[in-house]
Amino acid sequence: MDIKKRLEYLRGEIRNECISYGEIAELQSLKEHIEDGDVELLQWAEEISCTYCNLDRPEKDNKLIDIGDGEYVCELCIKCEGLTVDN
Ligand SMILES: [Zn+2]
Repeated sequence: MDIKKRLEYLRGEIRNECISYGEIAELQSLKEHIEDGDVELLQWAEEISCTYCNLDRPEKDNKLIDIGDGEYVCELCIKCEGLTVDN
C-alpha cells in the first residue's frame, strides 16, 4: 500500500466531512508517516490539541491553528481570547 496516497485519501475524507471511525483509527495507525507541519492530519490523529480548551478533535468550523513552539489553539479560543495569529 502506498501510504502517502492513503493519507491523501484520508485527507479528502476529512475535507468532505465523511471520515469514518475506522478511517480515523487507520489515520492514527499511520501517524508516524504524517509530516510534522501537517496540522490537518495530525489533529485528526490526536497528536495535537488546543492549548486553552484541550479540544483534541477538530469540529466543523473550529480548526486547530499552529501558533508555534509546538502549541496549537482552536479558532473558537482565538476569538474568545482575542488572540492574533500570524498566518
Ligand atoms: Zn480551544
